[in-house]
Amino acid sequence: DRLRQILASAGAHTPAQPCAERKVYSAERLRQAIADGELINHYQPKVELASGVVTGIETLVRWQHPQDGLIFPDLFIPTAEESGLINELTRSVLRTALRHARAWRDDGLPLQVAVNVSMDNLVSLDFPDFVERAVSEAGIAASGLLLEVTESRLMKDPLTPLEVLARLRLKRIGLSIDDFGTGHSSLAQLRDIPFSELKVDRGFVHGAWRDASLRAILEASLGMARQLGMKTVAEGVEDREDWDFLRTIGCELAQGWFISKALPPEQIPDWIADWEV
Ligand code: C2E
Ligand code: CA
Ligand code: CA
Ligand code: CA
Repeated sequence: DRLRQILASAGAHTPAQPCAERKVYSAERLRQAIADGELINHYQPKVELASGVVTGIETLVRWQHPQDGLIFPDLFIPTAEESGLINELTRSVLRTALRHARAWRDDGLPLQVAVNVSMDNLVSLDFPDFVERAVSEAGIAASGLLLEVTESRLMKDPLTPLEVLARLRLKRIGLSIDDFGTGHSSLAQLRDIPFSELKVDRGFVHGAWRDASLRAILEASLGMARQLGMKTVAEGVEDREDWDFLRTIGCELAQGWFISKALPPEQIPDWIADWEV
C-alpha cells in the first residue's frame, strides 16, 4: 500500500489550478490557437536554496482560450505530441521565452530561462540549429537557455534524440533531465547524455523530510547528480519544511508553490523585487 501510494504521488500530474472541465481539444483547434497567438508563457522562479537568489525561471505554457479561460498544458500537450504540432508549439514558446529573457536582462535581471521540450522535438535533426539561431537572434548567451527534457513515452528510435541532445550540449545550451525518478526518465539517459542539471520529480520532494523512503530516493538522486557534475534542482517545494530540509541536504535550487506559482511575465520583476524567504 505504501509503495502504491509513493508510485501514485510520483506519477501524478495534478494541474496547478483546477481546470473548469477535462475537455479534449482537437488538433485543428490547437493549430488555430497557435496561429492566433492564444498560447501564452507563464513563468515559475527557480531559487538558490543557500542564498535565496532567483537564478532562473521555467516557462510553463498556458492556453488563453476565448471561451474556456486559462487552460493548463496537461490538456493540450498530449494532442500536440500526437498530431506533430509540438514542433510548432515548442518553437513558438521558445522564441517568446527568449524575448522575455532578453527584456528581463536589459532590465538588470539576468535569469537563465528554461523551456520544456518533449521527446518528439528531439527527432528533428535541425532542432539544434534552430535553437542556436533563436538564442543568437535574441542576443542571449547559449548558457542562458536551459531545455528541460521529459521522456513521457518510449521512443521508437532513441538514437536521433541522443544525437540531437549531444549537439545541443556541444552548442553550450543547458540540458535538464526533468521529472527524474518517474516515467522513463532513467539512469540509462545519464550515461549517454551530458545533462547539466537534474530535476527531481515533486513526488520525491514534497514531504520527504518525514518519509524515510522518499528521503532515501531524493538524497540518492542528488548524490548521483553531484558525482556527475550536474546542478541539482527540486520541484514541488510546497512548504517551509520542504525548503528547510532541501537546504540541509545541500540541494542547490528549489521550485514550488512555497516560493511561487507560475506567473505572467509582466509580474516577474515586481515579484523578484518583493521576494524574500
Ligand atoms: P513540469 O515540467 O514537471 O512542470 C511542473 C508542473 O508542476 C507545472 O504544472 C507547475 O505549475 C506545477 N507545480 C509547480 N510547483 C508546484 C508545487 O509546489 N506543487 C505542485 N503540486 N505542483 C507544482 P503545469 O504548468 O500544469 O505543467 C504541467 C506539465 O506540462 C509540465 O510539467 C510539463 O511537462 C508540461 N509543459 C508545460 N509547458 C510546456 C511546454 O511549453 N512544452 C512542453 N512540451 N511541455 C510543457
Ligand atoms: Ca519542467
Ligand atoms: Ca518537472
Ligand atoms: Ca513533474
